[in-house]
Amino acid sequence: MSEDRLHFQAEVSRLLEIVARALYSNKEVFLRELISNASDACDRLRYAALTEPSLTEGDADFEIRLSVDKAARTLTVADNGIGMNRQDLIENLGTIARSGTLAALEALSGDVKKDVQLIGQFGVGFYSAFMVADRVEVLTRRAGDAQGWRWASDGKGEFTVGEAEDLPRGTHVVLHLLEGEDDFLDEGRLRQVVKTHSDHIALPIRMRIGEADETLNRASALWTRPRSEVSAEEYKEFYHHVAHAFDEPWLTLHFKAEGTIEYAALVFVPTTQPFDLFQPERKHHLKLYVRRVFVTDEAEGLLPPWLRFLRGVVDSEDLPLNISREMLQGSPMLAKIRQGVTKRLLAELGKKAADEPESYAGFWKAFGAVLKEGVYEDTSHRDALLDLLRFRSSEAEGWMSLDDYFGRMKPGQEAIYYITGDDLEAMRRSPHLEGFRAKGVEVLLLNDPVDEFWVPAIATVRDKPFKSVTRGGADLAKIAAPQDDESAAEPPAPPAGIDRLIALFKTALKDEVKDVRASERLTDSPVCLIADDHDMDIHLERMLKQHRQLTVGSKRILEINPTHPLMARLCGLSDTDAVQVQDLAHLLLDQARIVEGDPLPDPAAFSRRLSEALQRGLGMAA
Ligand code: ADP
Ligand code: MG
Repeated sequence: MSEDRLHFQAEVSRLLEIVARALYSNKEVFLRELISNASDACDRLRYAALTEPSLTEGDADFEIRLSVDKAARTLTVADNGIGMNRQDLIENLGTIARSGTLAALEALSGDVKKDVQLIGQFGVGFYSAFMVADRVEVLTRRAGDAQGWRWASDGKGEFTVGEAEDLPRGTHVVLHLLEGEDDFLDEGRLRQVVKTHSDHIALPIRMRIGEADETLNRASALWTRPRSEVSAEEYKEFYHHVAHAFDEPWLTLHFKAEGTIEYAALVFVPTTQPFDLFQPERKHHLKLYVRRVFVTDEAEGLLPPWLRFLRGVVDSEDLPLNISREMLQGSPMLAKIRQGVTKRLLAELGKKAADEPESYAGFWKAFGAVLKEGVYEDTSHRDALLDLLRFRSSEAEGWMSLDDYFGRMKPGQEAIYYITGDDLEAMRRSPHLEGFRAKGVEVLLLNDPVDEFWVPAIATVRDKPFKSVTRGGADLAKIAAPQDDESAAEPPAPPAGIDRLIALFKTALKDEVKDVRASERLTDSPVCLIADDHDMDIHLERMLKQHRQLTVGSKRILEINPTHPLMARLCGLSDTDAVQVQDLAHLLLDQARIVEGDPLPDPAAFSRRLSEALQRGLGMAA
């Protein structure tokens, strides 16, 4: 019989090498992976058969079956699910289709220890069979097809695919066990592994033991059971199955909604970021079931995109089973489920934030940036979301909420001040914060790209506007200085001649800045750049330039610190020194650019002016 020999995709080969070096400390999880696939295959066929009943003709009772052949030393995991045709086999068992897994593989370092850890995070699915087998055969016939296929491989770079005759519908995965893995020929051991990792599978997992067929698992959908009867371990195993994930669920939310519409939901918040979290499709990951029958994992509108880190299932009692994907899209029932799940989840997150702030901080680090999308996309949940936001601040370590911020506002403070940037430490050192720090006014440090969108979009919270410290006037004069601190009481009066100096600066820099002003926000630095009230924020502009969505930026305003000793000295210079003042104006502007992290438009001129200034400073003729 003809057989084709094919190469694994390079990434699969690399994956298999790592698998061969014993990926997991407990190899038994390979069985969970194969059973999980078998269960998915049955779910998919059951759904396909709703519109095409002939697909399950003659064999409509789905089951997963384990069998051992002690003489041949094989273990077989069989299902009567959807099966695979030749192309399915090549695509599914020769490549890695899931983009997240692929992306993670590309990130592999070559350092085995690190890579094992990384791969452990997303698992290896089918390929885990090679942890216990030196040869794997897959015999399979796709529902509705007459021709069956045989796939085989020793996991070393190549596999074969050829025709196979007289196969039942579905898939048999035959493992030729490695020496030393005879454990997995023992029925007692298999029963125990199934009980531990696959009890939650809704289909019966059967095995012939002695003369009798035994069902090894409970075989009922986990989400239909009362919460009190499900252990944390069972929830975790189910999470691994449904999410194709390998971390611990950080939060498990399991409830039944009864009333106008009836459904059960079992959803998990992962501990670590899934790899596809920031892909542009922003797809959610809830599976939709209707009365225990899997319908789709692509029901648009079942969850808002800003909850796409959730994993789990929703099982509706009311939707018709044969609902088409198109009808689902606009279904008001789906919208109600979305509202219900979202509300419950936000409430649960609120509880976590209040009761376990440290654990919540871990969640926030992983998913906060995604949740923030909801603040501007979804007005119906805005208030709940605002309470869940956490921030870094200029005045304190750790995380704070908006509530904390309001509680610590200073008398006379009319705005919520913030600064955006990439790097927290750089933001903390920013000259823009100086005046705020002197008055003890807290500034939120925002370093997620999404902050550039939700903050301007909502504009105010409890009637207080958000205000960037890098733009417009600082309004600091209205805020009372801390009473116990003499030095911060009132700023020294600006030196005489400051207006003339500003005029000189304006003339010198007229092509490069929009304006030159005396600053309220500087105490230590001589200068800084700010954006005009109606111009784009400096950090946003830089972000857009990096992504080539913007080529020319708007001109900035140069603020000079009138109380800085340098300015007092400059004010004292006579008109004959005008050229020197011009040069210094340029130098100070460049200095402000450097602090801002902006490139210098003319580094050569900067360098010339700097050497001249140094020479003058050292008393040499320039
Ligand atoms: P995942 O289950 O996360 O998609 P796997 O490596 O476990 O990844 O499986 C890869 C693919 O192979 C599955 O997505 C499925 O398309 C196919 N597959 C595996 N086992 C079976 C099976 N028993 N029946 C049908 N298809 C299967
Ligand atoms: Mg799988």
